Amino acid sequence: MSYAAINPFNGQKIRDFDNVTDQQLEVILDQAQGFYEASQKQDVEERTEFLNGLANEFEKNSEKYARILSTNMGKLLVEARQEVAKTVSFARYYAKNGVDLTQPQPYNDLPNGQAQVEISGTGIILAVEPWNFPYAQVMRVLAPNFILGNPVILKHASIVPEAALAFQEACDNADLPLGAFTNVFANYDQIDHIIEDPRVQGVALTGSEGAGRKIAASAGQNLTKSTMELGGTDVFIVLDDVDITKAAKDAAKARLTNAGQVCTAAKRYIVSSKIYPDFLDALKEEFAKYQVGDPLDENTTLAPLSSKDAQQQLQAQVEKVIAGGSEVLYGDLTPNEGDGAGFSPLILSGMEQDNPMYEEELFGPVAQIYQAQSDDEIVKIANNSRHGLGGAIYTKDIERGKKIASRIETGQVAINSILSSQAEVPFGGVKDSGYGRELSDWGIYEFANVKPVMY
Ligand code: NAP
Repeated sequence: MSYAAINPFNGQKIRDFDNVTDQQLEVILDQAQGFYEASQKQDVEERTEFLNGLANEFEKNSEKYARILSTNMGKLLVEARQEVAKTVSFARYYAKNGVDLTQPQPYNDLPNGQAQVEISGTGIILAVEPWNFPYAQVMRVLAPNFILGNPVILKHASIVPEAALAFQEACDNADLPLGAFTNVFANYDQIDHIIEDPRVQGVALTGSEGAGRKIAASAGQNLTKSTMELGGTDVFIVLDDVDITKAAKDAAKARLTNAGQVCTAAKRYIVSSKIYPDFLDALKEEFAKYQVGDPLDENTTLAPLSSKDAQQQLQAQVEKVIAGGSEVLYGDLTPNEGDGAGFSPLILSGMEQDNPMYEEELFGPVAQIYQAQSDDEIVKIANNSRHGLGGAIYTKDIERGKKIASRIETGQVAINSILSSQAEVPFGGVKDSGYGRELSDWGIYEFANVKPVMY
């Protein structure tokens, strides 16, 4: 496993990075354990101040941090600034609520006395994170665990090493105590070794199903708790009563933001057959507004993919979808043979269930569109998936939207807005999209010791 930063817009290598040695890893584990032991004797208030300091650091230097995202994984500068702002919001939420969330909770009126439930840390948490939101994903793990006094060791995706180091620099600039957060450029064997270490009490993975199965198995083997934030094939449902222009605008954005590389991106549009032709026309018009370009150019509307490998993999996947029976309704399938990782947006007709790609996540600007005659058929198509991450429903009839939302087997649903994570709201999946929750009050309890003291 080698860590290298390559600008995906032009294929130019920025820098290689050395892997951590086994000896360095031992020191890092010792330092992390040292932080854990010290933190359990410290007041939570002290850590909320550090977390606010970390938020300030990202806020003050937003432009610097944002540009690294653009050059490491191709994110549009405007989207990179939004990611920095979201990263700040996650830190601020736990800084503001950390004391309340970790207060002992009284459980009175027990048959034999009463109890006080204490909330404390458990030990070192390993965070294995993806390249698509290189700061926000890390903060989702660090902020709640820092409040608990759990040290976090980060193994970031190998294509965003500068972003990983920038996060470390932000923590150092905010004077987080030694061992509280440490980035490691580790190989997969070293990751297994970390999971085997008895001081490591949790593993949080965000990534593909393949990585999820591997890391969850290692964690299970060691009886170490894990959370898995995996992929999705989210639906974007458009009912027959919508403002078609507005729904199409949001539908395009929900698929094409971050070049379509979002776990909760709208991957399957399901449209009421009454408005299907008009909606499809409106959607094509919206897709035409997105053109791949340099992410650092403020006028660019669509980012390149994160790497040449990702572009080639998506091209191969789309060709299999077409060979399996889908049609191209919008876009040009010609492969990009240049050095950059640009991928032009496509709209494909929905896959039949016998399409060998039916269950696959297409991680890029490629939408599939289905039409449905009734709400029951919409729900059937939506649930006919082994994934269950997110979803969106567009309708003027909120009650009808809520009924459909309740029937969809998924971790979260938005009505009349693009699904997006928020610090205050739990985030996670069901089915093969993973387990566990990040963010909100639920997120802090994943790796907490929830301990009743009865008397
Ligand atoms: P990935 O290839 O699975 O990589 C994710 C992380 O896992 C990277 O740090 C990767 O390191 C590491 N990894 C992979 N295999 C490993 C192994 N055997 N041992 C140790 N570490 C391993 O996923 P990705 O391509 O970066 O991210 C895209 C996927 O993440 C999509 O499926 C997307 O839907 C999902 N995602 C889910 C959420 C959510 O919250 N549910 C959010 C964002 C993304 P290397 O880079 O070194 O391989």
